[in-house]
Amino acid sequence: MTEPALPAGPAPAPSSGPHRDDEGAGRFAPSPSGDLHLGNLRTALLAWLFARTTGRRFLLRVEDLDRVRPGAEDRQLADLRSLGLDWDGPVSRQSQRRAGYDEAIDRLDAAGLVYECFCTRKEILRAPSAPHAPDGAYPGTCRDLTAAERTERRAVRSDPALRLRAGAAGFTVTDVLHGEYTGMVDDLVLRRGDGTPAYNLAVVVDDAAQGIDQVVRGDDLLSSAPRQAYLATLLGLPVPEYAHVPLALGPQGKRLAKRDGAVTLADLADASGTAATPEATAAWALSTIAVSLRLAEPGEPVAVEMLRDRFSPAALPLEPWVYPPA
Ligand code: GLU
Repeated sequence: MTEPALPAGPAPAPSSGPHRDDEGAGRFAPSPSGDLHLGNLRTALLAWLFARTTGRRFLLRVEDLDRVRPGAEDRQLADLRSLGLDWDGPVSRQSQRRAGYDEAIDRLDAAGLVYECFCTRKEILRAPSAPHAPDGAYPGTCRDLTAAERTERRAVRSDPALRLRAGAAGFTVTDVLHGEYTGMVDDLVLRRGDGTPAYNLAVVVDDAAQGIDQVVRGDDLLSSAPRQAYLATLLGLPVPEYAHVPLALGPQGKRLAKRDGAVTLADLADASGTAATPEATAAWALSTIAVSLRLAEPGEPVAVEMLRDRFSPAALPLEPWVYPPA
């Protein structure tokens, strides 16, 4: 399932973060759409542990291409620091890296791998799926429009999205926790109609430009890894090592969220009354997370350095973490 890479383009644009070196790097890449909850903090801790126990740098990247809530980034960074997590170099922000995304799209376009898509979300849902296409794959409606059809559609919709003309329906990645994982690849969106670079493109361009060779994140993104790895391969970029870690679930068995009550540090501090200082809340959260990862005993004082000394990926619980515990 290997794809020939495009002719080598310019070297990936250097990020605003630390320069690329041979150490490799891991990262945490939150979207600043609100406060981090315990599940996000657990994923951040795991990303830090994976990086720090394998001699890698650890980078923080704010994925602020959309879903930005004012003040959220500052609070997210403060919460990460309050747990004792540190990172190397300045925080990078996707909103400042558009040139790298444009350059990647231009390179794909020059190779004939980009087309305009005029479909609305509704049209995609209603369209019959293409033969042999996996569920949820883009049905290919706009893939082979003639020039005349494109002109006609542009008159109705002047802001088409850009899609990748994918040459594979699936791709296999290797995950430290899940082993070989094969997932769907389709004609994914590269740039949305409003001009925003798509997450799948931005993540691939940034991970390579920042020298990130280890991607640790929630396992809700495992199914996105094959299309990201495929895109990286097309662009001639290295595919990182993946570790998709179990998510935190709320009492209803759905992904932990604000609706589940006090799940952010700020809400936990409020919920526990005036006695709880931010430091005490952070210490409680770190200890709760460490116990959930079987890296500490309940009641044991915890610090991230000690967790680093105890961490072993092979001993990581693979089932989701239910919070609050029943
Ligand atoms: N920004 C994404 C999120 O907060 C994570 C993307 C990634 O780690 O690749 O869900």
